Amino acid sequence: MKYYSTNGIAPLATLQEAVTQGLAADKGLFMPERIVPLTDDFYAEIDRLSFREIAYRVAQAFFGEDIPQNDLKDIVYDTLQFDCPVVKVKNNIYSLELFHGPTLAFKDVGARFMARMLGYFRQQGNNKGLVNVLVATSGDTGSAVANGFLGVDGIHVYVLYPKGKVSAIQECQFTTLGKNITALEIDGVFDDCQALVKNAFMDEELNRHMVLTSANSINVARFLPQAFYYFYAYAQMKRIGLADNLVACVPSGNFGNICSALFGKRMGLPIKRFIAANNANDVFFKYLQTGKYEPQPSIQTIANAMDVGNPSNFARIIDLYQGNYHAICKDIQGCTYTDSQIAASIEKCYRETGYLLDPHGACGYRALEDNLADNEVGFFCETAHPAKFQSTVEAIIGKEFSVPSRLAAFMKGTKQSVPLSKDFSAFKNYMMNR
Ligand SMILES: *Cc1c(COP(=O)(O)O)cnc(C)c1O
Repeated sequence: MKYYSTNGIAPLATLQEAVTQGLAADKGLFMPERIVPLTDDFYAEIDRLSFREIAYRVAQAFFGEDIPQNDLKDIVYDTLQFDCPVVKVKNNIYSLELFHGPTLAFKDVGARFMARMLGYFRQQGNNKGLVNVLVATSGDTGSAVANGFLGVDGIHVYVLYPKGKVSAIQECQFTTLGKNITALEIDGVFDDCQALVKNAFMDEELNRHMVLTSANSINVARFLPQAFYYFYAYAQMKRIGLADNLVACVPSGNFGNICSALFGKRMGLPIKRFIAANNANDVFFKYLQTGKYEPQPSIQTIANAMDVGNPSNFARIIDLYQGNYHAICKDIQGCTYTDSQIAASIEKCYRETGYLLDPHGACGYRALEDNLADNEVGFFCETAHPAKFQSTVEAIIGKEFSVPSRLAAFMKGTKQSVPLSKDFSAFKNYMMNR
């Protein structure tokens, strides 16, 4: 399978090129040339298959031409060592819990899958030198990528994070690992970290010096595997006889997660419609209202993994729908919530149902509460464990709760990071000496 760029100028790339480059040479995003629908037989038996079996079938549709069956199966099975159950919250609203991975966030699957895929290419003898993964993070991406890539041969990860602006637990998740993970503590905000990464990809001298790729959701190996979740959610809803009028609600920032779900729909997954739930960063919501896409500087919120003013996967959604605004509006509804609405939803849901939401999932829950019709059943993605935002959530519900031991274990290590200014020349100088 070949991959084309959404900007249409760069030549077609192989899977390996698309994954090791991250972004296409014309700054567009890679898209698979074909989206292969899954068979009726698969959908007929999907509710009898395991998460891994379902994911393997989905992975074959994307990567089956480029990676031999057994190797692909190993990559998928090694990635999915945990479950993502659908849990009833109330009435016709269900939570798809995507936080049972190693760092308790949904990005674990994409990060791990990408790491395994790069590892596979290296094993084949195709990638001889070291591949350097750059990742800018406001918290969750850095921890998922660092843990997913930890100890993978031939890959070095640089996590760029804003000094003093990630939670203590998140910081521990990528600064205490050592080995092939280096944390760069940038004296600036998240946008500065992202700008450093973007400038690095554009700097010819630096790219001659080392092979650089991105592990943000622009990378096809990171965003496509997220489609697994939606097939498995559908299977679980079918198992309980509730899959007929299904609505999927996705708390969105860079729109990689929802974009993978839309690929699922193209593969025949019977989800009736989608809701993109945003915090106060509402560019996509406004696009749906007006047809105009106007990127904004990001606004800081309590759902900080969604603080994105110019979602990178917007270009993929436009490409998937060939720019047809009405078709996009038919499939996707938008919602936007302020911090006080998010807090009120966490409090109310906990009081009414006993279910504890994190600030991101809360946007999804609220969007279903506000928009689900009586004849519909909806699930929202609970994208992170509430304990990752412990102090915020405790203040909202007025009660303390315990942190899972897996998360607490990260707090035991010693923090190691390299302090850098937000200046590109300082960052480049550091990288040129590596
Ligand atoms: C990354 C993230 C999101 C947003 O996902 P996108 O794919 O960027 O839209 C939502 N919630 C949490 C907890 C995240 O880490």
